[in-house]
Amino acid sequence: MDYKRLCPVVLEDEPLSKHTTIAIGGPAEYFALPALEKELTALLAACPDARIIGNGSNLLCPDAGLRGMVISTVNMRALTRLDETHILAECGALLPAAAAFAWKLGLAGLEFATGIPGTVGGGLVMNAGAYGGEMSGVVTESRFLRDGAQATQHEHAFRYRGSVYADDPGKTVLSAVFALTPDDPAEIRARMDDLSLRRREKQPTEWPSAGSAFKRPKDGFAAEIIEKCGLKGFRIGGAAISEKHAGFIINLGGASCDDVLRLLEHTASVVYKATGVELQPEIKTLVN
Ligand SMILES: Cc1cc2nc3c(=O)[nH]c(=O)nc-3n(C[C@H](O)[C@H](O)[C@H](O)COP(=O)(O)OP(=O)(O)OC[C@H]3O[C@@H](n4cnc5c(N)ncnc54)[C@H](O)[C@@H]3O)c2cc1C
Repeated sequence: MDYKRLCPVVLEDEPLSKHTTIAIGGPAEYFALPALEKELTALLAACPDARIIGNGSNLLCPDAGLRGMVISTVNMRALTRLDETHILAECGALLPAAAAFAWKLGLAGLEFATGIPGTVGGGLVMNAGAYGGEMSGVVTESRFLRDGAQATQHEHAFRYRGSVYADDPGKTVLSAVFALTPDDPAEIRARMDDLSLRRREKQPTEWPSAGSAFKRPKDGFAAEIIEKCGLKGFRIGGAAISEKHAGFIINLGGASCDDVLRLLEHTASVVYKATGVELQPEIKTLVN
């Protein structure tokens, strides 16, 4: 199949390490970067089993790579003002870009997204959130593609790190509408700067990672429990529990997918034996 007839940017044997924030992953047999909905639609019609990724900021990909087609949405990133208080974001728009767009329009509500390095699509799947804000608080509707047909989603079943899109991976998010509140741009900017500072102080943003390695357990915070178990700095191969924030697994250089999986497993097992808390990974692992 000549995929380039469907989408001008289709790479072969493209290292997924270049498209995941933890910088891990072997080659995708085909890696497409559609810029238009019609390109994405045509690719999905030709490859119904294609994997959709956003900015790869919550993903772990196998060292051996992935067979078949991987589609990244990051080139579908238009942001548009719809009216006084609503903006429309394409699925591949980065959350910090959407937050900055809203700030410049004097619209508050997306400040929480300033430092979340994912796309709008990935953010909807995960109900991304931070510092008291999350997608559930601002998204009013979204459009998706399923089995070649487009539809609008009004009820998102948002919950902690999940949504209707996590329940049904057959749905590809195309765009979302955010309902925001008019506010002084200087005050919005100040809140964004404050959150960025807090993030830089607490999180190992200088290292490649996939964000929080584990979901928040019912009682307490994963990072605190992992730290109490003495695992800060614990290392397997090139992957380590961050010294700065024990909730993050960082790639110290040359970490393999297997290093991270073993570190996730080891951490969960030590924590369970010491505390009885069952940690669940927040990072999603793609497999062949
Ligand atoms: C340094 C750092 C800090 C982080 N901080 C936070 C934080 O504060 N809060 C938080 O919630 N998360 C945080 N994350 C995690 C991550 O940024 C979020 O989970 C984000 O929502 C993932 O978006 P993505 O575009 O990178 O998705 P990806 O990682 O590419 O994909 C995640 C999942 O979404 C699916 N997906 C992606 N796009 C679409 C689409 N258009 N349609 C259907 N499915 C799709 C993928 O198939 C996959 O299952 C952080 C990550 C890093 C590296």
